[in-house]
Amino acid sequence: ADAQNNARKQGKLDAKTTHEDSAVAVKKYEKGLDVWIQDEALVWVQATVVGTMKDGRIIVRVGPGQDSVVWVKGGYPQLCGENNFVETEDLTRLNPLTEPAVLHCIHERYKQGEYYTTAGITLVAVNPFSTVPSLYSLAKIHLYSTAQPQDVKELPPHVFAVAQQAFGNLSRGLGSQAIIVSGESGAGKTWTARCLMRYLATTSAGKRLPGQRTPTSIVKIEKRILDSNPILEAFGNAGTVRNHNSSRFGKFIQLQFNRSYHLVGASIQTYLLEKTRVVHQAQGERNYHIFYQLYHGISDEERELLGLGGEEEEYQFEWLPTDESQNDRDEDWSSFAITRQAMTSLGIGKCQQQEIFRLLSAILHLGNIVFNSDAHDDGCPCTIEEDDQRCQQSLRVVCSLLGVNEDALGRCLTYRRITAVPGRRKSVFMKPCKPDECVARRDCLAKLLYARLFDWLVDIINKNICGEQAEWKTFIGLLDVYGFESFPENSLEQLCINYANEKLQQHFVHHFLRAQQEEYEEEMIPWNYCQFVDNKDCLELIEGKISIFALVNEDAVPEELVELITQSGNKFVSSLVGDMVVMGDTTSKKGRTARTVVSKFKASLDKLMHTLESTSPHYIRCIKPNVQSRPGVFDRRHVERQLQACGVLETVNISRLSYPTRLAYPAFLERYGIIMRTAADQATSSRSSVSSLSSLSDENLDTENMDPQDLLRRKNLVAGGTPGTPGR
Ligand code: ATP
Ligand code: MG
Repeated sequence: ADAQNNARKQGKLDAKTTHEDSAVAVKKYEKGLDVWIQDEALVWVQATVVGTMKDGRIIVRVGPGQDSVVWVKGGYPQLCGENNFVETEDLTRLNPLTEPAVLHCIHERYKQGEYYTTAGITLVAVNPFSTVPSLYSLAKIHLYSTAQPQDVKELPPHVFAVAQQAFGNLSRGLGSQAIIVSGESGAGKTWTARCLMRYLATTSAGKRLPGQRTPTSIVKIEKRILDSNPILEAFGNAGTVRNHNSSRFGKFIQLQFNRSYHLVGASIQTYLLEKTRVVHQAQGERNYHIFYQLYHGISDEERELLGLGGEEEEYQFEWLPTDESQNDRDEDWSSFAITRQAMTSLGIGKCQQQEIFRLLSAILHLGNIVFNSDAHDDGCPCTIEEDDQRCQQSLRVVCSLLGVNEDALGRCLTYRRITAVPGRRKSVFMKPCKPDECVARRDCLAKLLYARLFDWLVDIINKNICGEQAEWKTFIGLLDVYGFESFPENSLEQLCINYANEKLQQHFVHHFLRAQQEEYEEEMIPWNYCQFVDNKDCLELIEGKISIFALVNEDAVPEELVELITQSGNKFVSSLVGDMVVMGDTTSKKGRTARTVVSKFKASLDKLMHTLESTSPHYIRCIKPNVQSRPGVFDRRHVERQLQACGVLETVNISRLSYPTRLAYPAFLERYGIIMRTAADQATSSRSSVSSLSSLSDENLDTENMDPQDLLRRKNLVAGGTPGTPGR
């Protein structure tokens, strides 16, 4: 037993799946018993035991008419139990709680249009891939926002319930909250985050006395906060093979509340925009939405001004794969109107909008610039292709829009500066680039401009939505970050994305799984160890002292390119790189240290983790029911994989075995001590007072001077446990 216990402590054994002695186990599988058996297509199917063989194999019947007989070899099938899967709103209530039961429950509920299921402290949200208006109606918002704190948990599981719990905790003085939304690409994270934002914006404005009107300033700030979504999605989302509106950046938005718990502002932190997409779109994928919106959405007049082609000629852009249907064009056209309207609402005036569009057009034209590789083959320096009419036209447009000189741009793209310091004398050479180096420099320039534009937009948005520091006290953070990614060809971006997910998983493991188990152990509370995957080693490999990050030192932006942009005659363009610290030297002129993509990303994630540590976290696990993004299709294997990856079963197991309400002894006494007869009863240690208080019987109650209703309430309090106290 000791050995087994030690193994469990090390996470090597799962107490819940430890098999009993085989003879006992076989006896358990009596004829007529319903069990789960594995199935190639459906992962798990229900079957009925018809008998057992002498060698221990169990014979079951399976299939619609129970017509096919299967011998179950090795291990023992898991029992089905008697569950009403559709009505099981919280997976912790499944009995027995097994992996097949969890999958089946989520599937059965999905079939009935129940897309949300509670899983202990997390909410499982299955993407319906179709609009279900009643699911997010104002009536639904009203239902959750008007429920008493203790009743919210009794309402059907919903993202609004999670938002309401977070808001309820906040408004009961329990400090800042965070809602962490995770899931693979297309699972519904951004949709969910949008729902949460809309809910919190609506309800926090509605929390005032009847007849009292929402102040105009609050209405304005809510609108502005919500208007940040179309801008960020236009510039940071793109159609991919996994999701037609895939977020290519991570986002943490802090909704700021004042002392009266009214929303007074917000701030947005973004993480690692996928820059490669601007210059390279994999087969079947698109560039960022904004390019298409601009291309299809502007008037003919503006089109000419931006160099995007006249009325008759339609330009073709290398970086704008255009095999879209008319529907897409219409959608781009209407989305562009929304993006422009949102920009105006967020203080980006007409002139600035024109500057942004000019920059976007310049980036598109950069993609049409090609280089003469023949010259290089003949031993001459590579040049911008002179015989390609489209290339020459694009070169002229780029230079005019960016406000740079044609020769200077050409030189920057085809030569690189080499600084040598032999002895103490520093000398600078210009070395002609090979054709592929020229292409890389062109791409680097486009990525730099787009990334700086994106950061500029985030800054402007923040300036317009952020509350005064003195005004807001607490926040509810909403985290929507990209899920794990693995493509046939992966870049540094995938490493960073997956690293972010590992960090979040660690946060979850720390905060919930491990902290809980260790706490029980420390307090010697009877507890069955539950296996969990600790990703410490994986993180160490990526970010430790001797690690991948320590070796990777990517994405130097050549200083010549930064200089070129700094010297641009276009103030908007030059201001984008004004504060930029170039690579090459490790220290800039102003003494700031240049940072690599990796170190910057790591620092921003560390900051995020630090912020999350200061909050009470809530988790929403979004599930994508099929890879084709179709409504009504539930691919059990695909869902099972996601449930395993995000540890839903472990979460449910621990939640079920845990003690969800915790109060420190003094807090417990402060709340319930009034039931005790005299203050002297509390005079000993708070621990012993709590102990005697929890074993109170009628005779210990100070019944003589009590109002009968009060007495009844207090007795219920003791008998029924805690009246809706928050989890922590
Ligand atoms: P990515 O990581 O690629 O950004 P994501 O998890 O953010 O993916 P979303 O963009 O939120 O995924 O969702 C993908 C699509 O699924 C949405 O554009 C929408 O069409 C649909 N969808 C998601 N959630 C819902 C929902 N609750 N109801 C209806 N449709 C939904
Ligand atoms: Mg998204």
